[in-house]
Amino acid sequence: MSDQSGSSVLLPPGGQSILVVIAHPDDAEFLCGGTIARLAQEGHDIHYLLVTRGDKGTDSADVTPARLAALREQEQRRAAEVLGVKHVTFLEGYADSEVEVTLALRSDLVLVIRQWKPDVVFTFDPWRRNEVHPDHRAVGICTLDALACARVRLSFPEQLRDGLTPHRVRDIYYFSTDQPNHWVDISNVLDKKIEAMRCHESQMGNFDPEAFARRRGSQAGIEHKYKYAEAFHHYVLS
Ligand SMILES: [Zn+2]
Repeated sequence: MSDQSGSSVLLPPGGQSILVVIAHPDDAEFLCGGTIARLAQEGHDIHYLLVTRGDKGTDSADVTPARLAALREQEQRRAAEVLGVKHVTFLEGYADSEVEVTLALRSDLVLVIRQWKPDVVFTFDPWRRNEVHPDHRAVGICTLDALACARVRLSFPEQLRDGLTPHRVRDIYYFSTDQPNHWVDISNVLDKKIEAMRCHESQMGNFDPEAFARRRGSQAGIEHKYKYAEAFHHYVLS
């Protein structure tokens, strides 16, 4: 499963269209930005789907949630451009830190899956021990639930009009996992990942993205002797 050659990310055959479901601006760059950069370089069509705009992500008393949301949306769009991600969509109606496992969110995700018809989905591992952020857990659970329902004709049947059809996704890759079984060599794109992380200026403060990316990347790469890597739990849906 691991990427031994450095020449390919080794996604399943036919895995051309990739959906990345995240909770907040900056999640993708921090947690799988190197892999996204490589997938974009290899010509994959990548879609970011954000459940919130990260409107609670500040310690400043001077910024309102609405202004922060607008700022972070722009930061996310710039970061996606750096990595080569062509499509960035934000769901409406979900506030940062208030995302729950609901039928409404499942339905929204099912609709996007049926519209975009991805071959492969990336999202949070909702079962990671000590996954503190409630949004990360909820987004991971709802994404898996949505994959289970998107393929069933009688699930959310009101969506199946104007030519929209059920869609089956086979492969899911969980990032931010404590049970990795798939590693991607990001040594050649680490600088790109850091550049994309820096786009999230509102989140930087005294934080050093380069030190963070090098430390996390080298930790993830140790097992397979990569200088820098990102680790995933790959699961094939039956
Ligand atoms: Zn997050």
